[in-house]
Amino acid sequence: MRTLAREIDGLELPAVEKISESSQEDPFQVLIGTLLSARTQDATTAAASERLFAKARTPDAMSKLTVKQIEKLIYPVSFYRHKARHVKETCRLLVERFNSRVPQTMEELLTLPGVGRKTANLVLILAFKSAKNICVDTHVHRISNRLGWVTTKSPDETEQALYQATDARWWPIVNLYLVTWGQNVCRPVYPRCSECAIATWCPKVGVARTSRARAVNSR
Ligand code: SF4
Repeated sequence: MRTLAREIDGLELPAVEKISESSQEDPFQVLIGTLLSARTQDATTAAASERLFAKARTPDAMSKLTVKQIEKLIYPVSFYRHKARHVKETCRLLVERFNSRVPQTMEELLTLPGVGRKTANLVLILAFKSAKNICVDTHVHRISNRLGWVTTKSPDETEQALYQATDARWWPIVNLYLVTWGQNVCRPVYPRCSECAIATWCPKVGVARTSRARAVNSR
């Protein structure tokens, strides 16, 4: 993790990290940005979030948009119709049940439509500075298994296994480090193992083919 900390310095941050930074860790924008980011390229998430927040920055304002308006604003994020419905319904619930605030517990966050453990953990970490959560998306799941830290089949299983396998001081930043590494070096297909700064410690579990292309010097 210390090596990764050095190596990711200067690499592009994941979209939701940028949203969090630019909004001064506003829980609502982190929540909505994370909802939009599922299975979507970072550049698309960033642009869609910008359009949506330019129109409405609070649960009250966003709940007044129609699903069609939200669809138009967030297109072309993947599953934009589903996500538009989830955004609208989430805003309604935030207004009606949570006094227009994003709740601060895992249990309450999971009651919001489209919010799973990945989204809830990221909101708790980025917006509420929790040090007790690990946010596991497909990058974290894949790389943790390649590194041999865990042997798991699903992101939820990986999250639980990582609490056992890693030192608690790293929990809030596992996501930032591994997502950044996963987007630049340890990619889903053809990971750049020959360029990888942590290759010495990596058994490359399940890696069949790797890429020889330079990765890190493109920073
Ligand atoms: S050595 Fe290869 S599989 Fe292991 S972390 Fe680096 S890029 Fe990923």
